[in-house]
Amino acid sequence: MTPVLYLVIPCYNEEQVLPLTSGKFKAKLDELVEAGKISDKSRVMFVNDGSKDSTWDILSSLTEENPRYSAISLSRNRGHQNALIAGLLEAKSHADITISMDCDGQDDINAIGAMVDEYAKGNEIVYGVRNDRSTDTWFKRTTARSYYSVLRGMGVDIIPDHADYRLMSARVLDALEGYGEVNLFLRGIIPQLGFKQSIVYYSRAEREAGSTHYPLSKMLALAINGITSFSVKPLRIITVVGLLVALLSFIGIVYVLISYISGNVIDGWASTTCIICFVSGIQMVSLGVIGEYVGKIYLETKQRPRYIISERKNITEE
Ligand code: UDP
Ligand code: MG
Repeated sequence: MTPVLYLVIPCYNEEQVLPLTSGKFKAKLDELVEAGKISDKSRVMFVNDGSKDSTWDILSSLTEENPRYSAISLSRNRGHQNALIAGLLEAKSHADITISMDCDGQDDINAIGAMVDEYAKGNEIVYGVRNDRSTDTWFKRTTARSYYSVLRGMGVDIIPDHADYRLMSARVLDALEGYGEVNLFLRGIIPQLGFKQSIVYYSRAEREAGSTHYPLSKMLALAINGITSFSVKPLRIITVVGLLVALLSFIGIVYVLISYISGNVIDGWASTTCIICFVSGIQMVSLGVIGEYVGKIYLETKQRPRYIISERKNITEE
């Protein structure tokens, strides 16, 4: 039996892009249905992440035009990761497989066929991995590279050059549903789920229109979230640095005492100031890192819902 595939596509203020890309998603699904690779019940499912422009109007009219489209709308903007999980968990009860991708045409639709083939071979998670980063700026390339090595150093299992373009089976999504964390970093969670996994390479295109919703500040927030959600190593590093500083201070005290006893004391303004600056700097950073984790505990313990679905088109609640 051919599997039912749902493309899960989050959209936030994408009125410029959707008229260009929506037809391509549908054409790709039609092609795969025609080729007998997926079921005719397959859908392009959009998730409107509380857009402030006419995105929802565009999506609603698409669903009225053609039954291949369906859409859900979140009650407000919850961010990319939450929009994704909302769409995936919604699609789970209707589909055998889901593929999550961006709506701006950056994730090459021609990799969809290869992903479905990988699924047919028994893989339940298929990662879309970029085969080059030539469309990125030098800055994004370098920061991405260093970030992956930092994450690996912290013991976080992550697939380099893979964003959120991936295929998952309904079984994988059932497992993912058990991860109730509010600070969602899907890229970190999914490799932990296990199951048979494989990779499909694709080349990432430029955005077809509009502009990115990931400015430097949001990228940094996602990066920090990625580390603090999966690793407590930064806390351990603080302890080690603290111990080292304490050891150095102890040596310093011994030195001061010896100088004092030998009557060799001089005005020590510069050295004292340096030490105070250094130690208080380390303390501030340490408090900041601990604060990150305390903040995370605070947010997780409240167990608030990650999203609220306010509307559904061409999809029934289950
Ligand atoms: N997105 C979203 N909610 C947000 C920000 C972004 O659903 O708060 C969607 C956006 O519409 C796009 C995807 O997430 O489909 C990736 O965003 P974007 O293309 O702006 O990021 P980039 O590709 O530049 O990293
Ligand atoms: Mg994009």
